[in-house]
Formats: sequence, C-alpha cells, structure tokens
Amino acid sequence: MLQNPKLSEQRGVTGNHFFDFLSCTTRLWLSNKRINVGLDNEHIMIGNYIDEKTKPRSRKRLIIQGLCSIDYIEEKSGIEVHEVKKGRTPTEPHYFQLLFYMQIIYELTEKEPLGFLHLPQVRKVVKVIRDEKKVYDAYNEIVKVLSGPCPKPKLKPICVGCSFMEMCWA
Ligand code: SF4
Repeated sequence: MLQNPKLSEQRGVTGNHFFDFLSCTTRLWLSNKRINVGLDNEHIMIGNYIDEKTKPRSRKRLIIQGLCSIDYIEEKSGIEVHEVKKGRTPTEPHYFQLLFYMQIIYELTEKEPLGFLHLPQVRKVVKVIRDEKKVYDAYNEIVKVLSGPCPKPKLKPICVGCSFMEMCWA
C-alpha cells in the first residue's frame, strides 16, 4: 500500500528530519531552518569518528541529495541497508531514520530490503524490518511540525549534548 506522494519522490524531508523528529520537535524545527550553532559539538564529532572508524573503506555512503545519506548498502540474498550509530542501545531516532531509508530503497528498487543497525561500541547489530505505516505516519507528523511555529523546548536528557542547548536554555 504505497502512499501518494511516495517518500522517494518528495524532496525536503530527509533521514535527518526523521532522526530529529524522534529526538526533539524543537530540534527538528530549528535544524530545518538551518540554524546551526554547533558543528564542532563533541557528540557530533564522536558520531562521525565512530562512523569513519567502523566502516570498511570499500563501502561507500549512498547519498541522494535532499533525501538520504545511507551509511552503506550491500546486496547478499537481498538488499541490505546498514546504519552505524554511536551509543550502547538502539534508540527510536536511530530506528526511524533507518526505517525511512529502507522505505526509500523499497520504493526505488521495488525489492524488500532488510535493515541493520550497527552499534560498534557494544559490538551489537540489530535487524530491522520495513514498516511503511510507521514511516508515513511519522512523515505526516514531521510535515505538520515544519509548517507550524517553533515548538516550545522541553528539557530532556539529550539537551546536554544538543547543539541548540544555548539557544533553548541560555
Ligand atoms: S536543547 Fe533540548 S529542547 Fe532544545 S533543541 Fe536541543 S534537545 Fe530540543
């Protein structure tokens, strides 16, 4: 039951939007406005470091401008979509970002992909099954947030490492 318009045909909502939406709607809104105050944020730097260290050199990131930036894809018995994340347990933002990428690959190839979430800090790999309804429901919510005013910040544990910390709480 593919929805109309397909996620792969829209531009503007990316995997990062899904990640931010599940993390904090204020962050989603601010990031979308390109208000970037923390490129040297240490959490971003650690994430990039893990990403580079754990990805074999032969594996290339798949980037579709304005849509997705997937860590890597492999084709074995089927298409596999792989994301490498920092942290010790899989989180909802990780999960939804990967679901979005899997949906894009499904729509573009018409083949059912399998997802793999890698957590190299604890040597864990979590298998993820595509869920079209979850992805489209989240997409509709993201569009709603982006078309409204900036959501009021709510203090939460991730505020500590967030690049918008000063903007929200100074
Ligand atoms: S500091 Fe907290 S409330 Fe503000 S954008 Fe970041 S996570 Fe959201």
